[in-house]
Parts: sequence; structure tokens; C-alpha cells
Amino acid sequence: MTSYLMQDHELRISDILSYAARHHGDLNVSSVDEDGQFRVQSYHQTKERADQLTSRLLDEGLKPQSCIASLALNTRRHLELYYGVTGAGHILHTINPRFDPHQIQFTVDQAKDAIVFFDPAFTAQAVEIAAKSPFVQSFVCLCEKADLPDASLPGLTDYESYISNAPKNRLLPERSERDGAFLCYTSGTTGDPKGVLYAHRSCMIHALAAGGPGNFNIAPQDVVLPCASMYHATAWALPLITPMNGARLVLPGARLDGASLLDLCIQEGVTLAWGVPTIWKTVLDEARKQNRKLPALKRIYIGGSAVPPELKRSFRDELDVEIVQVWGMTETSPLGVIATPSAKVSAMQPEDRNELLTAKQGRIPFGVELTVRDEAENDLPHDGKTSGNLMIRGPWIVNQYFGHNTPATDEHGWFDTGDVATIDADGFMQITDRTKDIIKSGGEWISSIVLENTAVEHPAIANAAAIGLAHPKWDERPLLVFTPIGDAKVTAEDIIQFMSSRLPKWWVPEAAVERSDLPLTATGKIDKKVLRRDYENFYK
Ligand code: ADP
Repeated sequence: MTSYLMQDHELRISDILSYAARHHGDLNVSSVDEDGQFRVQSYHQTKERADQLTSRLLDEGLKPQSCIASLALNTRRHLELYYGVTGAGHILHTINPRFDPHQIQFTVDQAKDAIVFFDPAFTAQAVEIAAKSPFVQSFVCLCEKADLPDASLPGLTDYESYISNAPKNRLLPERSERDGAFLCYTSGTTGDPKGVLYAHRSCMIHALAAGGPGNFNIAPQDVVLPCASMYHATAWALPLITPMNGARLVLPGARLDGASLLDLCIQEGVTLAWGVPTIWKTVLDEARKQNRKLPALKRIYIGGSAVPPELKRSFRDELDVEIVQVWGMTETSPLGVIATPSAKVSAMQPEDRNELLTAKQGRIPFGVELTVRDEAENDLPHDGKTSGNLMIRGPWIVNQYFGHNTPATDEHGWFDTGDVATIDADGFMQITDRTKDIIKSGGEWISSIVLENTAVEHPAIANAAAIGLAHPKWDERPLLVFTPIGDAKVTAEDIIQFMSSRLPKWWVPEAAVERSDLPLTATGKIDKKVLRRDYENFYK
């Protein structure tokens, strides 16, 4: 006799949309579509269209667990791909359109994508893929027939024709919860991109945990705006967590500039938003310029890079919006830690609480284990002071990269994040640097994050990056690269003096250079690799 006496339900992503359509069917998904037009459709309609896509894909006769690619921004059709492709038992490979052509090709070849669904704006990338990839059978453009781009692509169809006559209620194939669902590549700074294959099971456990009150705290009354990309780590899993919690989803498409996002937040009554710091900085600047408030917005969850304290303070003081820092990576699905207060932190004096929740990336949620280690792989104390290599494990953390033969973890299942951090006795983690960004001056470590956060405290500085450069005497010394706010006049001497009054003397960069903008990576972070290359000989 079996000892498992509970009902045996496989955890399947398609069940999320079925739930939302059944119990929150009238709720609208708002979307800035591929043609720039704003459209709404209900969860009920979204489910019907995703089911049509599933039916159509099942007729393609592909092997189960084939990879189907998307080259798309955050739109309702991309949402349909999330459910339609995984519902058919295939894997949605969300290509990052900001990767360079070589990287895109590498990922398409490794995944052996059978079909590529693409936004008209990414036609050029689709054409490049078609020219080089032996596996792709057909291309489907995410548009109406009339908007089909004039491109020579095998089997080119528009999405609306592709799904139009397919049945809406086809029986889904029985699949295991251990099947792959989404394939997402991380850019890495060296070598080829590495693929993380999220499974139905890991996505469901992650979504169930991440939506909860100690984490994203998404309630049915919420209106959720993911500005993190659906092509990168499933946009913090919001396309799953939002319908799972019966909340409304707003998808911004290509309108990611400050003015458009400000309008969208106000028009749609967005209550919760996500994204990298740079995006929300532009919204803040725009709100100041237009002297507008965001009355419905309660919280913005910011991750991807460290949240500058100044950004958090300004949103709170000027707009009454709380910024909650999150840390995660492609390999962690992506929730790792979140800066929501524990009971102990809630009971602190407001200034102390604020300081802690600003300085630290966040608290370890259930489902994640973290530790720090030294170079010799010894565990270091969780005392909030000793920093070391940050290791992570749990049911939604990568075990092995797609197409690799060996695990990405050590023999005890720990994955090395490449970040350097401290963990305190209450489980709050603070990133001090990325292993590759840390500045080693005269044998001592300087945190690039602290230098950057200090620089942007200066009222005339919009953005700053600190990089370690080879130095004849100290091995490495920091250089600060900065962009001023608008037409503000600020000299390198001003900034260095400003930083000197706030930091240990030997941390302060001896030089600062102005740039009109800072180069960004495919995931919207400051590209320090480019900066290090551009200023390589600065101190030599
Ligand atoms: P990529 O390396 O291509 O940017 P990821 O999105 O997986 O891809 O990046 C994860 C990394 O981003 C983390 O290892 C960490 O260095 C950085 N990161 C993410 N969130 C934060 C945060 N809140 N503070 C500091 N660094 C962060």
C-alpha cells in the first residue's frame, strides 16, 4: 500500500491561467502591443487564445519538450506564449533580443529552437537567425496579417492567422511537473551564455512562495506592472504570480521611458511595479519635471543591481512610494532575498529600520538557503560583518546548466553566485560586490557598490560606475565614471571632494571622468566590461 494518501496533482503552469480564467475571468490584462497600441483583453480571452496556440502547436507534430523561441517584449501575445507553449508540453526559450548576434545564435543552436515567434521590431534578429540556423522550421510574427513585415523567412505567418482557426478546448497532453517550461540564458561576462531550464515544478513552487505576504505580497486588488523583461528570468515570474493571485497585469511593451511609464502607472492605477534602478530613476525624474504624483502606487520592487539609497529616499519622501529591494539572478528563478522587514526589524526605530532595509539587499525567504565562504571554501560566520563568496541552494535554484554535462553546484548542492556578501544572524544579506567587479587596492578590497551609492548622493550626479583599473603601485585603483543630471555643471574635483568627506581616504578614487551616458548590458545594467576596456590604461 502506498503511504502517500493525498491527491496526486502534478504542478503545471497551465493550471494558473485556468484558475485565473475561471475565477477572475473578467479581469483585464492591459498591454502596449507590438504596434505601440494600447489594448486590453480579459484573462478569459487570454486563456482561449493561449489554448488555441497550444492546439496549433500540437498539430505541428514536434517531439515533446521541443524548444520554441520568443523574441519579444512584455505584451499580451508574449503572455499567451508563456501559457500556450508550456501547455503544449514544449519549452519556451525566451531569447534576449539585446544579446549580440553571436550570442543569440549560440542560444538558438543549443536549444535547437523549432519555431521562432518574434515582435515585428525584432525582424532583423529573426532574419539573422534564419540565415544561420539549421533547426528553425518556421517563423511567426507577433502581429496581424496586415502588419506582417516584408522579410524572407521560412514559413513566415502572422500570429493571428497562426492561431485563428485552432480549437479553444483541446485536451492538454499529460506531462510531468519535472518537465522543462522556460529556458533563459544568462549573459555572463566571459564565454558563451549559459541556459537555465526552469521546470514546471520549480516555477510553481517559486511562484507560490514569491507571491506571498512576506515577499511580493500580491493581492487580488493589485495592479501589477512588470518592467523587468519577460525575456529575462521570466520578469521575476510575474506573468505567473499575478494571475495566480487573481490580480491585474499591465504589460508596458516598448514604452519603457520615464514619461510613458508615469502615464501608464497613473492611467492604469498601478499599485505594484518592478524593474531595475535605472528605469525607475527616469520615472522619478519625469514625475519631478511634470510635478505629478503616483497616487495608486504602493511599492516598487527593484533588483538587478543595488538600489541607490538616494532613489529609495526620494520615492518615499516625494511620492510616498516604498522601494523594496530584491536580489536574485537568472539561476535563482530569480527570487533570492527580499528587503521586507522581519518582526524584529519592524519593531526598530523608523530611522534604524530604514537604514537596515536600505543598506541590505534583503531577508532570506522560505525556500532559499544562503551561506558565505572564503576562498578555501570554509564557511564564514553569519555575523553581518564577514564577507565572502555567496552560495545558494533550494528547490528553485539551478542544478545544472542546459546542455552541460556536469552540475553547476558543489557536492552538497550549493551554487556559487559570483557575488560577495555578508549575512547577519537574522538572515539579512548584503551584497558588497560582484566577484568580478570588486576593486583590489594594495591587497585590500574596495566595494564598487559603496563608491557608486556615495557618488549618486551628490545632487548633480545622475548615475555613476566605479571600476577597478590596473595601477603600477597599488595593483588596482578605482576610477569613477559619472553622468551629471541634465545640464548640471559638476567637475571631477567636486565629486572627489564630496566622496572624500564620506569615505575612508584610500577608498576615494583619485580620478573621475564624465560621460554623457553609461553603456548598458543586455539586461539593462551598467556594462563595466566596456568601461574597463575604455579606460584600461588610465592609471598606467
Ligand atoms: P546578468 O549577469 O546577465 O546581469 P542576472 O540577471 O542573472 O544576469 O544577474 C544577477 C546578478 O545581478 C547578481 O548575481 C548580482 O550581482 C546582481 N544583482 C541582482 N540584484 C541585485 C541587488 N539588489 N543588488 C546588487 N546586485 C544585484
